Amino acid sequence: MKIAVLPGDGIGSEIVAEALKVMAVLDLPFETEHAPVGGTAYELHGNPLPDATLRLAQQADAVLFGAVGDWKFDTLERSLRPEQAILGLRKHMGLFANFRPAICYEELTDASSLKPELVAGLDILIIRELTGDIYFGQPRGRRVSPDGAFKGAEEAFDTMRYSRPEIERIAHVAFQAARKRNKRLTSVDKANVLETFQFWKDVVTEVHAQYPDVALDHMYVDNAAMQLVKAPKRFDVIVTGNMFGDILSDEAAMLTGSIGMLPSASLNAKGQGLYEPSHGSAPDIAGKGIANPLATILSVAMMLKFTLNQPEAAARIEAAVKQVLASGLRTADIWSAGSTRASTREMGDAVVAALAKLSGLKTTIAKTTL
Ligand code: NAD
Repeated sequence: MKIAVLPGDGIGSEIVAEALKVMAVLDLPFETEHAPVGGTAYELHGNPLPDATLRLAQQADAVLFGAVGDWKFDTLERSLRPEQAILGLRKHMGLFANFRPAICYEELTDASSLKPELVAGLDILIIRELTGDIYFGQPRGRRVSPDGAFKGAEEAFDTMRYSRPEIERIAHVAFQAARKRNKRLTSVDKANVLETFQFWKDVVTEVHAQYPDVALDHMYVDNAAMQLVKAPKRFDVIVTGNMFGDILSDEAAMLTGSIGMLPSASLNAKGQGLYEPSHGSAPDIAGKGIANPLATILSVAMMLKFTLNQPEAAARIEAAVKQVLASGLRTADIWSAGSTRASTREMGDAVVAALAKLSGLKTTIAKTTL
């Protein structure tokens, strides 16, 4: 089990350190190798995604990724910015399917910004297409900008584009995921305004013919954004494009209490995966030791399930996290009156201790929600 470990910037190294501690007590033959990525790699090698880092990621079974980005790089030319590293990894590894489950743990119902009755028992899965859409569309650029900067530019543009095979493969992934859950799929688009998303809607409808057991509905993205805060439990699986998925999954994250709770998996056709928390590098809290490591720890559970075929170990991690939350331990982002405040390291230690207690005991594999 060869894992490329790319901690990245900001809180990346703090949260990945806790995930590695958790992996260490699983007693599985992990072989880990670290490499710089993002702003850290730019400062070391002048490139946010050095060739050696990309090669390591491509040759590994799975990538454990922290986060990239820092405001101090905002003035760099776009191709050198830290965020290009994650876009490059997605593109070069063909990581087209992004799974972002939003599960509201019973213990965190109070931490949600919505009323407890709206989020209690929430368990939805957002599947975001990751290698197409406006983030990768050509042409892109600006006009009348002599020095390559935006100063003096009259216009800037990005092109939204999807091909039939791109939509078909993500639709298949989404229908298959819905089949393993409650058999309801909502495809989110903006077909009323955008040609790209009328095409998206038509292709998803065509693919639906192969999954008659799954109920499909279509929803405009503005309505989906509203429904997510009005009645989030109406959803089971949501499939959408790259940009809408980016925005809706952050919105869904907050329903669960904190973006610090949400893991994610990005998979390619070979089953290789990149596993990372749904959040960014949180430069505002980097170095303070207060970041929530649970999204990264739960991303390890996804890695065990999706790529490494170790569902029992994944279930043990999830059970350990539940136990720790039930004990009242909370990092600052999910803290509420009456609970015990923990640092990043204390939260990681608590999960490790709970896992150690659970090992030896046979953990029942919970109904897979992904
Ligand atoms: P962010 O997700 O980094 O932070 C948003 C807010 O959530 C901040 O207040 C932050 O403190 C909080 N937060 C995030 N993760 C947390 C955690 N684990 N525990 C506690 N609080 C947490 O988003 P942003 O501020 O918009 O972006 C910061 C940088 O991250 C930018 O450079 C952005 O481009 C980058 N980014 C990277 C990724 C990635 O690496 N995949 C994803 C999103 C944003």
